[in-house]
Amino acid sequence: MIRLGVAAVLAAALLAGCERPPEETKLRFTAMGTLVDVTIYGVPPDRARAAGERVESLFRDLHRAWDPWGDGALGQVNRSLAAGEPAALDPDLRQVLARARDLSGRSDGLFEPALGSLVKLWGFSRDEAQPEHPPPTAAIEVELARHAAIADLLNSGSRLSGPPGVMLDLGGFAKGVAVDRAVELLQRAGIANAIVNAGGDLRAIGRRGERPWRIGIRHPRKPGVLAAIEVQGDGAIFTSGDYERYFVHNGTRYHHILDPRTGRPAQGVASVTVAHAESGLADAAATALFVAGAENWPATAAQLGITEAMVIDTEGNISMTPAMQRRVRFIEDPPPGRIRVRELP
Ligand code: AMP
Ligand code: MG
Repeated sequence: MIRLGVAAVLAAALLAGCERPPEETKLRFTAMGTLVDVTIYGVPPDRARAAGERVESLFRDLHRAWDPWGDGALGQVNRSLAAGEPAALDPDLRQVLARARDLSGRSDGLFEPALGSLVKLWGFSRDEAQPEHPPPTAAIEVELARHAAIADLLNSGSRLSGPPGVMLDLGGFAKGVAVDRAVELLQRAGIANAIVNAGGDLRAIGRRGERPWRIGIRHPRKPGVLAAIEVQGDGAIFTSGDYERYFVHNGTRYHHILDPRTGRPAQGVASVTVAHAESGLADAAATALFVAGAENWPATAAQLGITEAMVIDTEGNISMTPAMQRRVRFIEDPPPGRIRVRELP
């Protein structure tokens, strides 16, 4: 009887085309203002679920710590800065800010986490209702005149100080660092095949069984997917888009990615997708390339060590690096003449 049972189970498995049923466990939660999906492949559901729950609490802790406007570590730093007092940094925040300073320098300040007060002025901080009109020009000029860069705030000790009113905002970087940490947590738990996807920005490790992970890239102007990229091994794909947070006033679209040189939304680009092994770098780079603009982004990519990037301008023209061109598959062929391959300097 027992033998027959085993044979029947084996036959069923062979019929299904595999010796062991694939085990994919999915968890979904909200953190850092976005839906986070954790997909874990190839380990028993109990183990996958336990690891996924630890990822969830990691995201919640980091959200609190790095929320510029809350009561966690970064929020307290911003309150001290606002009061014109030096702010004490805990070792973890210090490390994240030091990395942000490094990436800001390598992007010539186009990625600039010290523009928190501009983000707030425009009404794009997460705790505010959707803004309806741009701020007065005079108020933007006041912010620009402060001229603070993260490099000027972060000194060598464990304190940070700057001109009163300056605030830090890690919105262009924090999600990437959180995804890296989530992946490290999964790897330490012995999980080799997984995706941590925070609102379309993600890092994948391993494979989905026999197949690589296949990642969709959103069309910046239509619902649905424009292209797909395969990831196998370890890779992050991050997109910055003008469709994520924006308002329209008198027919003009004002979005949340600000050009630190003008104090206003960066012009000319609709979305930037960056692929890189590390999601923190991919996140900061997508923001920086967006600000660099449809013409000048290759120089910024080269300075940041990014070799795979795709930029879609507000007219729908697509430009990308040769390495990205080799990887990306468009769902529908874009019209001829719309795609341009840009060598990196
Ligand atoms: P992302 O979607 O990664 O491009 O991040 C956009 C968010 O980063 C915005 O909502 C702001 O909080 C913040 N941000 C806006 N402009 C910049 C900039 N030039 N450099 C760094 N962070 C920025
Ligand atoms: Mg970013």
